Amino acid sequence: MDVEMADIEKTIHTKENTICIFGTGDFGRSLGYKLLQVGYNVVFGSRSQDSTPLLPKGVEIMDYGEAAQRSSIIVLAIHREHYYFLTNLSHILNGKVLVDVSNNQKVNQYPESNAQFLAQLVPNAKVVKAFNTVSAWSLQSGLLDASRQVFVCGDDSNSKRLVMDVACRLGLTPLDQGSLLVAGELENYALHLFPMWRLPFFISIGLTAFFFFYCLITDVIYTSIKEGKDYSFLIAVSITNRVFPIVSLTLLALVYLPGIIAAFVQLYRGTKYRRFPHWLDRWMLCRKQLGLIALGYAFLHAIYTLIIPIRVYVRWWHNNYLISQSKLGHVTLLFCTAHTLIYGWNYFFDIHYYAWCLPPAGTLSLIIPCTVLVLKFFLITPCIDRKLTKIRQGWERSPKHRK
Ligand code: NAP
Repeated sequence: MDVEMADIEKTIHTKENTICIFGTGDFGRSLGYKLLQVGYNVVFGSRSQDSTPLLPKGVEIMDYGEAAQRSSIIVLAIHREHYYFLTNLSHILNGKVLVDVSNNQKVNQYPESNAQFLAQLVPNAKVVKAFNTVSAWSLQSGLLDASRQVFVCGDDSNSKRLVMDVACRLGLTPLDQGSLLVAGELENYALHLFPMWRLPFFISIGLTAFFFFYCLITDVIYTSIKEGKDYSFLIAVSITNRVFPIVSLTLLALVYLPGIIAAFVQLYRGTKYRRFPHWLDRWMLCRKQLGLIALGYAFLHAIYTLIIPIRVYVRWWHNNYLISQSKLGHVTLLFCTAHTLIYGWNYFFDIHYYAWCLPPAGTLSLIIPCTVLVLKFFLITPCIDRKLTKIRQGWERSPKHRK
Protein backbone atom coordinates (compact mmCIF):
# COMPACT_ATOMS: atom_id res chain seq x y z
CA MET A 1 0.00 0.00 0.00
CA ASP A 2 2.81 2.37 0.97
CA VAL A 3 4.60 1.57 -2.26
CA GLU A 4 1.42 2.41 -4.16
CA MET A 5 1.08 5.73 -2.35
CA ALA A 6 4.72 6.50 -3.05
CA ASP A 7 4.08 5.78 -6.74
CA ILE A 8 1.10 8.11 -6.76
CA GLU A 9 3.13 10.81 -5.00
CA LYS A 10 5.89 10.33 -7.54
CA THR A 11 3.47 10.64 -10.46
CA ILE A 12 1.98 13.81 -9.01
CA HIS A 13 5.36 15.48 -8.90
CA THR A 14 6.76 14.16 -12.16
CA LYS A 15 7.30 16.23 -15.24
CA GLU A 16 4.31 14.53 -16.87
CA ASN A 17 2.03 15.95 -14.26
CA THR A 18 3.53 19.41 -14.39
CA ILE A 19 2.44 22.00 -16.90
CA CYS A 20 4.39 25.13 -17.53
CA ILE A 21 2.61 28.31 -18.56
CA PHE A 22 4.50 31.22 -20.03
CA GLY A 23 2.83 34.51 -19.14
CA THR A 24 0.87 35.47 -16.06
CA GLY A 25 -1.76 37.46 -17.94
CA ASP A 26 -5.51 36.81 -18.00
CA PHE A 27 -5.41 33.62 -20.00
CA GLY A 28 -2.35 32.13 -18.27
CA ARG A 29 -3.84 32.71 -14.83
CA SER A 30 -7.26 31.28 -15.72
CA LEU A 31 -5.77 28.21 -17.34
CA GLY A 32 -3.37 27.73 -14.42
CA TYR A 33 -6.26 27.90 -11.99
CA LYS A 34 -8.23 25.28 -13.90
CA LEU A 35 -5.19 23.00 -14.29
CA LEU A 36 -4.53 23.17 -10.56
CA GLN A 37 -8.13 22.22 -9.89
CA VAL A 38 -7.85 19.02 -11.91
CA GLY A 39 -4.63 17.99 -10.19
CA TYR A 40 -1.74 19.26 -12.30
CA ASN A 41 1.29 21.03 -10.86
CA VAL A 42 1.51 24.44 -12.45
CA VAL A 43 4.71 26.37 -13.00
CA PHE A 44 4.55 29.88 -14.40
CA GLY A 45 7.31 31.42 -16.47
CA SER A 46 7.27 35.18 -16.20
CA ARG A 47 9.38 38.29 -16.71
CA SER A 48 8.90 39.12 -13.05
CA GLN A 49 9.09 36.54 -10.28
CA ASP A 50 7.23 38.67 -7.72
CA SER A 51 4.19 36.70 -6.72
CA THR A 52 0.98 38.61 -7.32
CA PRO A 53 -2.29 38.06 -5.40
CA LEU A 54 -3.98 37.42 -8.73
CA LEU A 55 -2.09 34.17 -9.22
CA PRO A 56 -3.84 31.05 -7.94
CA LYS A 57 -2.46 29.69 -4.68
CA GLY A 58 -0.19 26.68 -5.04
CA VAL A 59 1.58 27.61 -8.26
CA GLU A 60 5.26 28.34 -8.64
CA ILE A 61 6.59 31.33 -10.52
CA MET A 62 10.07 31.60 -11.98
CA ASP A 63 11.88 33.00 -14.98
CA TYR A 64 10.99 31.65 -18.42
CA GLY A 65 14.10 29.48 -18.83
CA GLU A 66 13.87 27.85 -15.42
CA ALA A 67 10.12 27.19 -15.74
CA ALA A 68 10.57 25.59 -19.17
CA GLN A 69 12.88 22.96 -17.69
CA ARG A 70 10.20 21.78 -15.28
CA SER A 71 7.75 20.44 -17.84
CA SER A 72 7.58 18.83 -21.24
CA ILE A 73 4.43 20.81 -22.10
CA ILE A 74 4.64 24.59 -22.22
CA VAL A 75 1.56 26.69 -22.84
CA LEU A 76 2.42 30.06 -24.34
CA ALA A 77 -0.12 32.45 -22.85
CA ILE A 78 1.55 35.44 -24.48
CA HIS A 79 0.80 37.44 -27.59
CA ARG A 80 2.51 36.59 -30.86
CA GLU A 81 4.19 40.00 -30.94
CA HIS A 82 6.27 38.94 -27.88
CA TYR A 83 7.35 35.52 -29.15
CA TYR A 84 10.81 36.72 -30.23
CA PHE A 85 12.43 36.13 -26.83
CA LEU A 86 11.75 32.39 -27.29
CA THR A 87 14.64 32.12 -29.76
CA ASN A 88 17.03 32.70 -26.83
CA LEU A 89 15.48 29.71 -25.07
CA SER A 90 15.56 27.39 -28.08
CA HIS A 91 18.18 25.11 -26.48
CA ILE A 92 15.81 24.52 -23.53
CA LEU A 93 12.71 24.24 -25.71
CA ASN A 94 14.22 21.53 -27.93
CA GLY A 95 11.82 18.59 -28.21
CA LYS A 96 9.25 20.20 -25.89
CA VAL A 97 5.57 20.55 -26.73
CA LEU A 98 4.77 24.24 -27.20
CA VAL A 99 1.06 24.99 -27.06
CA ASP A 100 0.15 28.08 -29.02
CA VAL A 101 -3.12 29.57 -27.74
CA SER A 102 -2.82 32.92 -29.44
CA ASN A 103 -5.37 34.81 -31.48
CA ASN A 104 -5.05 37.92 -33.59
CA GLN A 105 -6.87 41.23 -33.78
CA LYS A 106 -7.89 40.81 -37.40
CA VAL A 107 -8.65 37.96 -39.80
CA ASN A 108 -5.49 36.95 -41.74
CA GLN A 109 -3.46 39.60 -39.92
CA TYR A 110 -0.12 37.95 -40.77
CA PRO A 111 0.99 36.03 -43.84
CA GLU A 112 1.53 32.89 -41.75
CA SER A 113 -0.41 31.67 -38.75
CA ASN A 114 0.93 32.40 -35.26
CA ALA A 115 1.57 28.71 -34.70
CA GLN A 116 3.57 28.40 -37.93
CA PHE A 117 5.50 31.52 -36.99
CA LEU A 118 6.30 29.92 -33.63
CA ALA A 119 7.42 26.71 -35.33
CA GLN A 120 9.83 28.78 -37.45
CA LEU A 121 11.18 30.60 -34.39
CA VAL A 122 11.77 27.39 -32.43
CA PRO A 123 12.21 24.73 -35.12
CA ASN A 124 13.14 21.90 -32.76
CA ALA A 125 10.09 22.26 -30.57
CA LYS A 126 6.80 20.50 -31.31
CA VAL A 127 4.17 23.16 -31.81
CA VAL A 128 0.52 22.38 -31.17
CA LYS A 129 -2.27 24.91 -31.66
CA ALA A 130 -5.04 24.56 -29.07
CA PHE A 131 -7.30 26.36 -26.61
CA ASN A 132 -7.49 29.55 -28.68
CA THR A 133 -11.30 29.34 -28.87
CA VAL A 134 -11.65 28.98 -25.09
CA SER A 135 -11.82 32.30 -23.27
CA ALA A 136 -10.11 33.21 -20.01
CA TRP A 137 -13.50 34.16 -18.66
CA SER A 138 -15.10 30.81 -19.43
CA LEU A 139 -12.16 28.97 -17.83
CA GLN A 140 -12.59 31.02 -14.70
CA SER A 141 -16.34 30.64 -14.57
CA GLY A 142 -15.98 26.86 -14.58
CA LEU A 143 -16.85 26.35 -18.28
CA LEU A 144 -20.47 26.11 -17.25
CA ASP A 145 -21.99 28.12 -20.04
CA ALA A 146 -19.23 28.00 -22.60
CA SER A 147 -18.52 25.84 -25.59
CA ARG A 148 -16.39 22.89 -24.50
CA GLN A 149 -14.84 22.28 -27.87
CA VAL A 150 -11.07 22.67 -28.16
CA PHE A 151 -9.76 22.59 -31.71
CA VAL A 152 -6.30 21.04 -31.83
CA CYS A 153 -3.83 20.91 -34.71
CA GLY A 154 -0.14 20.12 -35.05
CA ASP A 155 2.36 18.15 -37.08
CA ASP A 156 3.41 15.72 -34.35
CA SER A 157 0.67 13.28 -33.42
CA ASN A 158 2.14 12.31 -30.02
CA SER A 159 2.30 15.94 -28.93
CA LYS A 160 -1.25 16.48 -30.12
CA ARG A 161 -2.36 13.49 -28.09
CA LEU A 162 -0.66 14.87 -24.96
CA VAL A 163 -2.43 18.20 -25.37
CA MET A 164 -5.74 16.49 -26.08
CA ASP A 165 -5.30 14.47 -22.87
CA VAL A 166 -4.86 17.71 -20.94
CA ALA A 167 -7.99 19.14 -22.55
CA CYS A 168 -9.95 16.01 -21.64
CA ARG A 169 -8.78 16.21 -18.05
CA LEU A 170 -10.01 19.79 -17.96
CA GLY A 171 -13.45 18.55 -18.93
CA LEU A 172 -13.19 19.91 -22.47
CA THR A 173 -13.80 18.16 -25.77
CA PRO A 174 -10.69 18.16 -27.97
CA LEU A 175 -11.23 17.91 -31.71
CA ASP A 176 -8.25 16.98 -33.85
CA GLN A 177 -8.25 19.29 -36.86
CA GLY A 178 -5.13 17.99 -38.59
CA SER A 179 -1.71 19.48 -39.24
CA LEU A 180 -0.36 22.91 -38.35
CA LEU A 181 -1.52 24.14 -41.76
CA VAL A 182 -5.00 24.46 -40.24
CA ALA A 183 -3.78 26.82 -37.49
CA GLY A 184 -4.58 29.96 -39.53
CA GLU A 185 -8.16 28.82 -39.93
CA LEU A 186 -8.48 28.17 -36.19
CA GLU A 187 -7.08 31.62 -35.44
CA ASN A 188 -9.60 33.23 -37.79
CA TYR A 189 -12.37 31.09 -36.39
CA ALA A 190 -12.01 32.75 -33.00
CA LEU A 191 -12.68 36.13 -34.65
CA HIS A 192 -15.95 35.13 -36.28
CA LEU A 193 -18.99 36.17 -34.30
CA PHE A 194 -21.12 33.18 -33.35
CA PRO A 195 -19.84 31.00 -36.22
CA MET A 196 -22.31 28.19 -35.55
CA TRP A 197 -25.24 30.59 -35.79
CA ARG A 198 -24.46 31.96 -39.20
CA LEU A 199 -25.98 29.17 -41.31
CA PRO A 200 -29.16 28.81 -39.18
CA PHE A 201 -29.51 32.59 -39.21
CA PHE A 202 -29.35 32.82 -43.01
CA ILE A 203 -31.69 29.85 -43.41
CA SER A 204 -34.27 31.49 -41.11
CA ILE A 205 -33.99 34.86 -42.83
CA GLY A 206 -34.31 33.17 -46.23
CA LEU A 207 -37.37 31.16 -45.18
CA THR A 208 -39.01 34.18 -43.53
CA ALA A 209 -38.53 36.33 -46.63
CA PHE A 210 -39.74 33.56 -48.91
CA PHE A 211 -42.95 32.81 -46.97
CA PHE A 212 -43.65 36.47 -46.32
CA PHE A 213 -43.56 37.35 -50.00
CA TYR A 214 -45.44 34.19 -50.83
CA CYS A 215 -48.29 35.16 -48.48
CA LEU A 216 -48.12 38.73 -49.75
CA ILE A 217 -48.68 37.51 -53.30
CA THR A 218 -51.43 35.02 -52.47
CA ASP A 219 -53.30 37.08 -49.86
CA VAL A 220 -52.83 40.71 -50.84
CA ILE A 221 -51.62 41.15 -54.40
CA TYR A 222 -53.83 38.42 -55.83
CA THR A 223 -57.02 39.70 -54.17
CA SER A 224 -56.25 43.26 -55.10
CA ILE A 225 -55.78 42.36 -58.79
CA LYS A 226 -58.55 39.77 -59.09
CA GLU A 227 -61.19 41.22 -56.80
CA GLY A 228 -60.11 44.83 -56.57
CA LYS A 229 -60.11 44.63 -52.77
CA ASP A 230 -57.44 46.12 -50.55
CA TYR A 231 -56.20 43.59 -48.01
CA SER A 232 -52.94 45.36 -47.23
CA PHE A 233 -54.00 45.68 -43.58
CA LEU A 234 -53.22 41.95 -43.27
CA ILE A 235 -49.51 42.59 -43.74
CA ALA A 236 -48.69 43.93 -40.30
CA VAL A 237 -50.21 41.25 -38.12
CA SER A 238 -52.03 38.45 -39.92
CA ILE A 239 -49.47 37.61 -42.57
CA THR A 240 -46.55 38.07 -40.22
CA ASN A 241 -48.24 35.82 -37.71
CA ARG A 242 -48.83 33.21 -40.38
CA VAL A 243 -45.19 33.26 -41.41
CA PHE A 244 -43.84 32.67 -37.88
CA PRO A 245 -45.37 29.23 -37.28
CA ILE A 246 -44.63 28.16 -40.86
CA VAL A 247 -40.95 29.04 -40.50
CA SER A 248 -40.91 27.52 -37.05
CA LEU A 249 -42.30 24.20 -38.28
CA THR A 250 -39.94 24.17 -41.26
CA LEU A 251 -36.93 24.86 -39.01
CA LEU A 252 -38.01 22.15 -36.61
CA ALA A 253 -38.15 19.71 -39.51
CA LEU A 254 -34.70 20.90 -40.61
CA VAL A 255 -33.38 19.96 -37.16
CA TYR A 256 -34.27 16.31 -37.75
CA LEU A 257 -33.70 16.02 -41.47
CA PRO A 258 -29.85 15.81 -41.33
CA GLY A 259 -30.00 12.97 -38.79
CA ILE A 260 -32.26 11.07 -41.14
CA ILE A 261 -30.05 11.75 -44.15
CA ALA A 262 -27.06 10.60 -42.06
CA ALA A 263 -28.88 7.36 -41.24
CA PHE A 264 -29.51 6.72 -44.94
CA VAL A 265 -25.87 7.48 -45.76
CA GLN A 266 -24.74 4.97 -43.12
CA LEU A 267 -27.17 2.34 -44.37
CA TYR A 268 -25.95 2.85 -47.92
CA ARG A 269 -22.27 2.71 -46.98
CA GLY A 270 -22.72 -0.07 -44.42
CA THR A 271 -20.37 1.58 -41.94
CA LYS A 272 -20.21 4.45 -39.51
CA TYR A 273 -16.44 4.83 -39.91
CA ARG A 274 -16.51 7.16 -42.89
CA ARG A 275 -16.93 10.88 -42.71
CA PHE A 276 -20.18 12.42 -43.81
CA PRO A 277 -20.05 14.91 -46.67
CA HIS A 278 -18.92 18.32 -45.46
CA TRP A 279 -22.31 19.97 -46.01
CA LEU A 280 -24.00 17.30 -43.88
CA ASP A 281 -21.40 17.67 -41.13
CA ARG A 282 -22.01 21.40 -41.06
CA TRP A 283 -25.76 20.96 -41.02
CA MET A 284 -25.59 18.42 -38.17
CA LEU A 285 -23.39 20.75 -36.14
CA CYS A 286 -25.92 23.57 -36.23
CA ARG A 287 -29.03 21.57 -35.32
CA LYS A 288 -29.14 23.00 -31.82
CA GLN A 289 -29.13 26.54 -33.19
CA LEU A 290 -31.84 25.70 -35.73
CA GLY A 291 -33.96 24.29 -32.91
CA LEU A 292 -33.48 27.38 -30.77
CA ILE A 293 -34.43 29.70 -33.62
CA ALA A 294 -37.50 27.53 -34.28
CA LEU A 295 -38.43 27.98 -30.64
CA GLY A 296 -37.90 31.74 -30.97
CA TYR A 297 -40.28 31.88 -33.93
CA ALA A 298 -42.85 29.88 -31.97
CA PHE A 299 -42.65 32.43 -29.14
CA LEU A 300 -43.01 35.30 -31.60
CA HIS A 301 -46.08 33.56 -32.94
CA ALA A 302 -47.49 33.26 -29.43
CA ILE A 303 -46.82 36.95 -28.70
CA TYR A 304 -48.34 38.04 -32.00
CA THR A 305 -51.39 35.92 -31.41
CA LEU A 306 -52.03 37.76 -28.17
CA ILE A 307 -52.58 40.93 -30.13
CA ILE A 308 -55.18 39.38 -32.43
CA PRO A 309 -58.20 37.37 -31.30
CA ILE A 310 -56.92 34.31 -29.43
CA ARG A 311 -57.27 31.13 -31.40
CA VAL A 312 -57.26 27.64 -30.06
CA TYR A 313 -54.39 26.47 -32.17
CA VAL A 314 -51.99 28.90 -30.55
CA ARG A 315 -51.84 26.86 -27.40
CA TRP A 316 -51.17 23.84 -29.52
CA TRP A 317 -48.12 25.38 -31.05
CA HIS A 318 -46.83 26.75 -27.84
CA ASN A 319 -47.21 23.54 -25.88
CA ASN A 320 -45.72 21.50 -28.66
CA TYR A 321 -42.62 23.60 -28.81
CA LEU A 322 -41.92 23.41 -25.14
CA ILE A 323 -40.94 19.80 -25.61
CA SER A 324 -39.36 20.24 -29.00
CA GLN A 325 -35.79 19.97 -27.75
CA SER A 326 -36.34 16.89 -25.68
CA LYS A 327 -36.13 13.26 -26.74
CA LEU A 328 -39.71 13.60 -27.85
CA GLY A 329 -38.56 15.84 -30.69
CA HIS A 330 -39.88 13.63 -33.44
CA VAL A 331 -43.19 13.26 -31.64
CA THR A 332 -43.38 17.03 -31.36
CA LEU A 333 -42.75 17.34 -35.06
CA LEU A 334 -45.48 14.79 -35.65
CA PHE A 335 -47.95 16.71 -33.47
CA CYS A 336 -47.13 20.05 -35.08
CA THR A 337 -47.47 18.59 -38.55
CA ALA A 338 -50.72 16.85 -37.64
CA HIS A 339 -52.01 20.08 -36.18
CA THR A 340 -51.20 21.99 -39.36
CA LEU A 341 -52.80 19.26 -41.43
CA ILE A 342 -55.99 19.28 -39.37
CA TYR A 343 -56.12 23.06 -39.20
CA GLY A 344 -55.52 23.56 -42.89
CA TRP A 345 -57.16 20.47 -44.34
CA ASN A 346 -60.08 22.42 -45.79
CA TYR A 347 -57.78 24.83 -47.55
CA PHE A 348 -55.32 22.34 -49.04
CA PHE A 349 -57.59 20.85 -51.65
CA ASP A 350 -60.02 23.70 -52.22
CA ILE A 351 -59.14 25.38 -55.49
CA HIS A 352 -60.64 28.67 -54.25
CA TYR A 353 -57.69 29.08 -51.92
CA TYR A 354 -55.19 28.70 -54.75
CA ALA A 355 -54.05 32.07 -56.01
CA TRP A 356 -52.64 31.83 -59.53
CA CYS A 357 -52.33 28.08 -58.98
CA LEU A 358 -50.12 28.71 -55.93
CA PRO A 359 -51.08 26.49 -53.00
CA PRO A 360 -51.68 28.15 -49.62
CA ALA A 361 -48.47 28.82 -47.66
CA GLY A 362 -49.58 26.30 -44.99
CA THR A 363 -49.54 23.56 -47.62
CA LEU A 364 -46.00 24.45 -48.64
CA SER A 365 -44.88 24.47 -45.03
CA LEU A 366 -45.80 20.79 -44.76
CA ILE A 367 -43.46 19.54 -47.47
CA ILE A 368 -40.28 19.26 -45.37
CA PRO A 369 -41.94 18.06 -42.13
CA CYS A 370 -43.92 15.38 -44.00
CA THR A 371 -40.77 14.25 -45.83
CA VAL A 372 -38.90 13.99 -42.51
CA LEU A 373 -41.72 12.02 -40.92
CA VAL A 374 -42.12 9.59 -43.81
CA LEU A 375 -38.36 8.93 -43.88
CA LYS A 376 -38.32 8.52 -40.10
CA PHE A 377 -41.16 5.98 -40.24
CA PHE A 378 -39.17 4.07 -42.81
CA LEU A 379 -36.07 4.12 -40.56
CA ILE A 380 -37.91 2.83 -37.52
CA THR A 381 -39.33 -0.21 -39.25
CA PRO A 382 -37.80 -3.14 -37.32
CA CYS A 383 -35.59 -4.57 -40.07
CA ILE A 384 -34.09 -1.17 -41.03
CA ASP A 385 -33.77 -0.09 -37.41
CA ARG A 386 -31.94 -3.31 -36.50
CA LYS A 387 -29.46 -2.82 -39.32
CA LEU A 388 -28.87 0.83 -38.50
CA THR A 389 -28.34 0.05 -34.82
CA LYS A 390 -25.76 -2.61 -35.75
CA ILE A 391 -23.91 -0.10 -37.94
CA ARG A 392 -23.96 2.47 -35.16
CA GLN A 393 -22.56 -0.10 -32.77
CA GLY A 394 -19.56 -0.60 -35.04
CA TRP A 395 -20.60 -3.34 -37.45
CA GLU A 396 -19.33 -2.87 -41.03
CA ARG A 397 -20.49 -4.40 -44.26
CA SER A 398 -16.97 -4.30 -45.71
CA PRO A 399 -14.47 -3.57 -42.93
CA LYS A 400 -11.73 -2.76 -45.44
CA HIS A 401 -13.22 0.74 -45.74
CA ARG A 402 -11.63 1.49 -42.40
CA LYS A 403 -8.10 1.13 -43.73
P1 NAP B 1 -2.34 39.42 -21.34
O1 NAP B 1 -3.26 39.48 -20.19
O2 NAP B 1 -1.89 40.67 -21.97
O3 NAP B 1 -1.04 38.60 -20.91
C1 NAP B 1 0.04 38.40 -21.77
C2 NAP B 1 1.25 37.99 -20.97
O4 NAP B 1 2.34 37.85 -21.84
C3 NAP B 1 1.71 39.06 -19.99
O5 NAP B 1 1.01 39.01 -18.80
C4 NAP B 1 3.17 38.73 -19.83
O6 NAP B 1 3.34 37.86 -18.75
C5 NAP B 1 3.54 37.95 -21.09
N1 NAP B 1 4.62 38.65 -21.87
C6 NAP B 1 5.75 38.08 -22.30
N2 NAP B 1 6.51 38.95 -22.95
C7 NAP B 1 5.88 40.12 -22.92
C8 NAP B 1 6.19 41.39 -23.43
N3 NAP B 1 7.33 41.66 -24.07
N4 NAP B 1 5.29 42.37 -23.22
C9 NAP B 1 4.13 42.13 -22.57
N5 NAP B 1 3.80 40.90 -22.08
C10 NAP B 1 4.66 39.92 -22.25
O7 NAP B 1 -2.97 38.55 -22.49
P2 NAP B 1 -3.97 37.29 -22.33
O8 NAP B 1 -5.34 37.77 -22.45
O9 NAP B 1 -3.59 36.48 -21.17
O10 NAP B 1 -3.65 36.49 -23.67
C11 NAP B 1 -2.48 35.72 -23.77
C12 NAP B 1 -2.57 34.89 -25.05
O11 NAP B 1 -3.70 34.03 -24.96
C13 NAP B 1 -2.75 35.73 -26.30
O12 NAP B 1 -2.02 35.19 -27.35
C14 NAP B 1 -4.25 35.63 -26.59
O13 NAP B 1 -4.53 35.75 -27.95
C15 NAP B 1 -4.52 34.21 -26.11
N6 NAP B 1 -5.90 34.00 -25.72
C16 NAP B 1 -6.48 34.79 -24.80
C17 NAP B 1 -7.80 34.56 -24.42
C18 NAP B 1 -8.48 35.41 -23.39
O14 NAP B 1 -9.68 35.21 -23.13
N7 NAP B 1 -7.79 36.34 -22.76
C19 NAP B 1 -8.52 33.51 -25.01
C20 NAP B 1 -7.90 32.69 -25.94
C21 NAP B 1 -6.57 32.94 -26.28
P3 NAP B 1 4.48 38.16 -17.67
O15 NAP B 1 4.28 39.54 -17.19
O16 NAP B 1 4.22 37.12 -16.61
O17 NAP B 1 5.80 37.96 -18.34
